[in-house]
Amino acid sequence: MSEGKLIVVTGPSGVGKGTLLQKLLERHPDRILFSISATTRSPRSGEEHGREYLFWSREEFEGKRDAGEFLEWAEYAGNFYGTPKPPIDQAIALGQIVLLEIELAGARQVAQTFPSAKRIFIAPPSMEVLENRLRQRSTDSEEQIVKRLHHAELEVAAANEFNITIVNDNLEIALQQLEKAMFE
Ligand code: 5GP
Repeated sequence: MSEGKLIVVTGPSGVGKGTLLQKLLERHPDRILFSISATTRSPRSGEEHGREYLFWSREEFEGKRDAGEFLEWAEYAGNFYGTPKPPIDQAIALGQIVLLEIELAGARQVAQTFPSAKRIFIAPPSMEVLENRLRQRSTDSEEQIVKRLHHAELEVAAANEFNITIVNDNLEIALQQLEKAMFE
């Protein structure tokens, strides 16, 4: 049985990663396992425990973190986010392509602990476009938007640390580039 591979997708909040990855999953449901992260942030409307995230309390998260049960974890905009390790190990052993959608600090940890992972950065066409998209989404408070924009600047400045950068200007073109990067 062939070993699977680990793909890391990083990009600022509002860049359209969610839509891109959703489309990717629709096209290749049997080949890709989308890792479900744990987070201490509250669910947004429409989000479900076990589907978008595992919504854990801070205590629960810290317990698992201290027991070494995360492949990577990070604090982002005041909340913890992390990738539970056991499902990843299992899927890779079964030969699947495992996709992690995580922020920069987590991607850097994976670069250290799992150097064979392919790391893909999704960039906005410009910071102005990103800000507009974040505001149009209107799911976050002004304070959250400011924190996310600040983080976005740091992330865009680190794009050169990744194996591939894809600019999400046109969804269909970005999707084709992502498919090529994943399956080549
Ligand atoms: P959101 O709150 O918008 O769902 O996610 C905020 C940020 O956390 C996004 O950049 C997302 O990629 C990142 N994120 C989601 N899950 C994880 C995770 O398991 N680990 C890390 N390091 N970042 C994550």
